[in-house]
Amino acid sequence: MSNNLYARAECGCGAVALLVAGEPEAIDTRLGLAWWPETALQLTQGADWLELTDEWRGEHRLRVESCRRCGDRLMVSRDGWVETTLEWVERLGLEVSSLSTSQALREDFGHERPGD
Ligand SMILES: [Zn+2]
Repeated sequence: MSNNLYARAECGCGAVALLVAGEPEAIDTRLGLAWWPETALQLTQGADWLELTDEWRGEHRLRVESCRRCGDRLMVSRDGWVETTLEWVERLGLEVSSLSTSQALREDFGHERPGD
């Protein structure tokens, strides 16, 4: 259990900042990814620098939010869920070892089943 209720995350250049509440809903250590409910991540700074682009993984259309100044990818979102890297979660100082994997979220974001 983490005792960080809120954490602040920034892109590489600091132009865009997010307030992160709680912990990811699910993680995948093999893919190095974490999934959050969209409501857990709130933009607090730099809306003008945020660039929205669409990305397709197979048939899954994802929305990528990145910083226009430094190019950092901050969030990949779909249907109320946000995908981030695990490295990003660890940089927030969150303890992630106790969290579980979600096959449904992994597939929603267009990732293959393990072993495929
Ligand atoms: Zn930036």
